[in-house]
Amino acid sequence: MALTAITGVLHTSATDMLEVHTNLLPTELLFHKICHRATVRLSALPETHPLHKPVRQSARRNLKRHRSTLHQLLHVFCIHLPDYEVIGMSDCPPNKGNSFIMEIASSRADSKEDDAMDMADICAYSDGSGLDGKAGAGTIVFRGSCLVGSVRYCLGPLTCHTTYEAEVVGVLLALELIHRERRSTTVSLKLDNQAIICTLNNHRAGPASSLLGLIHDMCDDWAKGRSRRVWLKISWVTGHSGVQGNELADAEAWKAVTEGSSPSADLPSVLQCGELPFSLTAIRGAFKKEMQGRWKAMWAESPRQGRLSKIDAKLPSHSFIMATEKLTRAQASVLIQLRTGHIPLNKFLHKIGKASSSSCSACPGAEESIHHFLFDCPSHARARHNLARKLGCKSKSLEYLLGDRRTFLPVLKYVRESGRFKEVYCDMPPQQT
Ligand SMILES: [Zn+2]
Repeated sequence: MALTAITGVLHTSATDMLEVHTNLLPTELLFHKICHRATVRLSALPETHPLHKPVRQSARRNLKRHRSTLHQLLHVFCIHLPDYEVIGMSDCPPNKGNSFIMEIASSRADSKEDDAMDMADICAYSDGSGLDGKAGAGTIVFRGSCLVGSVRYCLGPLTCHTTYEAEVVGVLLALELIHRERRSTTVSLKLDNQAIICTLNNHRAGPASSLLGLIHDMCDDWAKGRSRRVWLKISWVTGHSGVQGNELADAEAWKAVTEGSSPSADLPSVLQCGELPFSLTAIRGAFKKEMQGRWKAMWAESPRQGRLSKIDAKLPSHSFIMATEKLTRAQASVLIQLRTGHIPLNKFLHKIGKASSSSCSACPGAEESIHHFLFDCPSHARARHNLARKLGCKSKSLEYLLGDRRTFLPVLKYVRESGRFKEVYCDMPPQQT
């Protein structure tokens, strides 16, 4: 019902046809996705949360009888709680200032100029990358123009970690190297991710918040006991734009993926003791991908898949939504009806008992099918002529007319000029073709 309300098509249309057009997961998979999202969030609750203890207890024992909802969820999705990151409330006072300076240039050109003019004693560049299904982080440190250190860390598969997390780890690696450089009064740390710099400025709970907290702690440690004249600046530098430091840090992050992490002794202590906990964002993303895969398999077995795949083999995906995003609901609705075959033409209306005959009112003896409406009916000859002038000889192909996004506007113009659905879609506006 929701799908027919969204699309405005006939209620006889098959649900799976509408799901693939609207890119909405089938209900059972959607429930799976919602339950998985809630379970993963439960697994990330901090000790201070009232549900922390019940969740831990339910995960520890799987009961055979009288199972609670928590038992069901945690065991159906095989959640192993110690593997997941904990997102807790920030214990940092809201009025606490930062022990570092933040800077985001207004444009790429400005950031390149700032980088060239940077006179800090120590310049560190950090980066994080996703490559070959793995996330890696790398950093390099210069004293003046001399390279004094580099270190890298491989976080693991992208199904458990995100590139955002890799960028945060890159900053941690850079701070570790900065700590080891004793004689430094001014330090500049540069990364190509503005979101992390902005997140460092607030202390809200969110993905990778424990790692972001560590960055604050390491910056506080660095500033402790130093005079007010020294400073540590974290700034944005444009990525993949020929900034030498950024390119080297990027190469180091790639090396982390292909060759593995640096020796344990070179890493910050938090990265020395085993793998980082899984990122909730990555786990949700991987599950979403799995649901998409199951949906594709379900669609492949649908009896309607064969006919529709001749018109649009990309479904299910967001391709149809993207192609029709600038159209009105009535226009998108007509296109879906032409593609599904459930359209108020006499052949279909007769089939569902809503018309006395399947014949075209203008052509006695000929069934009014989609093919007849688009290619044969003489009463729409003028509109068809205009369509042929616009699309050429390809206008004779049903697959081309209904499958190629470039033909949608000419086809809708044809429908409007034919006046066939005037009583249903009287509000269909003219298009700019
Ligand atoms: Zn006709």
